[in-house]
Amino acid sequence: MEKFLTDKGLERFRARQLGKWIYRKGARSFDEMTDLSKDTREFLKSTFFLGDSMEIAEEQLSVDGTRKFLFRLLDGKQIESVLIPEKDRKTLCISSQVGCALGCTFCLTGTIGKIRNLTPAEILDQYMLVNDRSGGSVTNIVFMGMGEPLDNLENLVRALKTMMDENFLGLSPKRITVSTSGIVPRIKELGEQVSVNLAVSLNAPRDELRNEIMPINKRYPIRELIKASVKFPVPPRKALMFEYVLLSKVNDSDRDAYDLGYLLKGINCKINLIPFNEASPLPYRQPTRERVLRFQEILVSFGINVRIRKSKGRDILGACGQLAAAYPSRKIKDAKGAAGAHL
Ligand code: SAH
Ligand code: SF4
Repeated sequence: MEKFLTDKGLERFRARQLGKWIYRKGARSFDEMTDLSKDTREFLKSTFFLGDSMEIAEEQLSVDGTRKFLFRLLDGKQIESVLIPEKDRKTLCISSQVGCALGCTFCLTGTIGKIRNLTPAEILDQYMLVNDRSGGSVTNIVFMGMGEPLDNLENLVRALKTMMDENFLGLSPKRITVSTSGIVPRIKELGEQVSVNLAVSLNAPRDELRNEIMPINKRYPIRELIKASVKFPVPPRKALMFEYVLLSKVNDSDRDAYDLGYLLKGINCKINLIPFNEASPLPYRQPTRERVLRFQEILVSFGINVRIRKSKGRDILGACGQLAAAYPSRKIKDAKGAAGAHL
């Protein structure tokens, strides 16, 4: 922005001024920017578009306080974000793509296929609009909505930089988490550009099982994924996170827990266990509470820090893996025959 504005003969500091108006004060027109001269405002108006990249089409409230937002983008496509209130924080779960190409067999978004990437503005506006509507109370952002963030790396990085830059939103990197299914070379690329929390969706401790439920594993197997993940520069005093969706009788046995324990033993990390959220037409079931606790107990015996994620917003299809923005499922792959991913 500085370069563009100075090339046009304007002062360098105007870029910061604009950043403050747009991201801190929520200006939605150049005319609101009263400390700019009329000529400057006219020039900006004739050069840029300033406005929202989407509108809130629907808002649903869950019995547990979770809110799901359906957004309509300017081209009519739809995405969802979920706002999850907890004791000491309010976490907004945002989308990075319309649909997803990776086709994990347990995820409703994966059944839509990839429709398109979100632009940096569309990633940011989910936060801007929901934060605005909830009186500025959003404290944390997780990229666990629709889409694979690392399949949209360039736009993701631009959005992250705008979120964290002091001149724009100025959010702490400790409050931002990017979740990935494991596009290995992009983990390194992301780490070269930003430091944020990283959550890796592992979901299986052995390649043959992971291949079945996450086709991306055929390209980037577990060993390579873990090697790249441990090198990722998470913020100071934060630990790498692994997510593990528990699917009844698929990846939730004692043996799976021991294999996972051996795999992650000694790595500075946390594991988040997510009991499968059922969403028709996905062909899995949620394990019993006893199974989940037993799985956790085995991991704890390895000295690993494990949490069971409480599912929120299930009644409004707002929990992990339930977001589809009313798009129809294109194909349901059976758990054994998942196709390769198309990036
Ligand atoms: N594409 C990214 C981020 C979006 S998915 C990724 O895969 O990490 C966010 C999380 O939801 C992932 O950890 C994924 O494994 C989990 N998930 C997907 N479907 C789920 C379901 N039906 N029940 C519970 N968790 C699910
Ligand atoms: Fe895509 Fe993540 Fe769902 Fe897999 S779990 S299909 S990567 S959104």
